[in-house]
Amino acid sequence: MPPDKVHARLREVAAPAMKGSLPTVVLAGCGYGAIDALRALKGQARVIAINPHPYIVNSGMSTRLLSGRFSLDLVRIPLLEHIQANGAQFLQGRVTHIHPQAQTLTLEGAGGIQTLAYDYLLVNVGRELRAIDGMQHAFAIRPAEQLVAAQTWIRQCWQRAAQGDPTPSLLTFGVVGGGCTGTELMGELYDLCREMSAATGIPLARARLLLIHGQAHLAEGFSERFRQEVEREIRRLGVEIWAERRVKAFGPQQVWLEDGSELVAQTRLWAGGLQAPAWLRSCGLPLGPTGSLLVDECLRVQGAERILALGDCADFVWGSRLLPKIGVYAV
Ligand SMILES: Cc1cc2nc3c(=O)[nH]c(=O)nc-3n(C[C@H](O)[C@H](O)[C@H](O)COP(=O)(O)OP(=O)(O)OC[C@H]3O[C@@H](n4cnc5c(N)ncnc54)[C@H](O)[C@@H]3O)c2cc1C
Repeated sequence: MPPDKVHARLREVAAPAMKGSLPTVVLAGCGYGAIDALRALKGQARVIAINPHPYIVNSGMSTRLLSGRFSLDLVRIPLLEHIQANGAQFLQGRVTHIHPQAQTLTLEGAGGIQTLAYDYLLVNVGRELRAIDGMQHAFAIRPAEQLVAAQTWIRQCWQRAAQGDPTPSLLTFGVVGGGCTGTELMGELYDLCREMSAATGIPLARARLLLIHGQAHLAEGFSERFRQEVEREIRRLGVEIWAERRVKAFGPQQVWLEDGSELVAQTRLWAGGLQAPAWLRSCGLPLGPTGSLLVDECLRVQGAERILALGDCADFVWGSRLLPKIGVYAV
């Protein structure tokens, strides 16, 4: 028998036995590691991929939704084609609990609440938005749809101003958070305002753009030279920077600060940071310094040999350094 036929025959004979013995691997959350994981596990396991949507959002691109430079279609990476091509099963929903002893997890989806068993679990759920009081009065960086809604709202503010709407602070725009995301968001806001200034004939100088943040410098954590350049560039755009001012809540038209002062602004944007998912805390798994799952150099959750975690929901200590929560490390 020619070798290729032998191989085909062997696969046929082995298939039923292998099928029975394939481990079930559940991907809890399809973040930046999901597509590579699906490829690597093809034919090696029965894979179930869980995610709230049939796509992943490329967060690094999402700030550009505010200016309209990018559309939602562009920042969403479709998942289904990768899941199907690699023979995996997709369950749409959210993991709300992991039971390491029982090797099960709780899933909340369209079909209600269900329990799912796994042989191995790969946790890739990212982080969630840090919230403050009155979040319903601000546009947040997540979900990405909020930035599209903010763009529409900001365009309307300019158009209303052009029609003589006397609402105070109609052209006052406050961005809260001066990390990379908030700073980037301010750049996009400036571009949108410049476009609307040209479209409506209202001088850009009539708009007030404020960047409020709790730290002494923008883009804290980067080199001093880089931070200075970022600050210089942001000020060059005419943006007011309120440094070392912490925001405690949003009101229907206000940003309230911890020092008792307030800013009245018809547009309020929140880029105040992300945090480890709260539900991870009650799963009895070891957590690292940021509250994410503590993993070893092979991404195994320490002390839980059948659970792996990667990306933002993992605390990966490299030597004495905790790897930053950024996309390049998640990939
Ligand atoms: C606005 C913004 C801009 C950024 N810009 C950059 C940049 O320019 N460069 C860079 O390197 N990094 C950037 N980052 C950071 C980068 O996006 C993250 O580090 C990266 O997305 C982390 O990948 P991840 O796979 O851990 O999680 P995510 O990309 O967040 O993916 C997690 C997935 O899990 C799903 N999920 C969440 N909870 C559950 C649950 N309970 N059950 C099931 N599924 C769940 C989510 O819907 C999502 O699909 C940015 C982040 C933000 C917010």
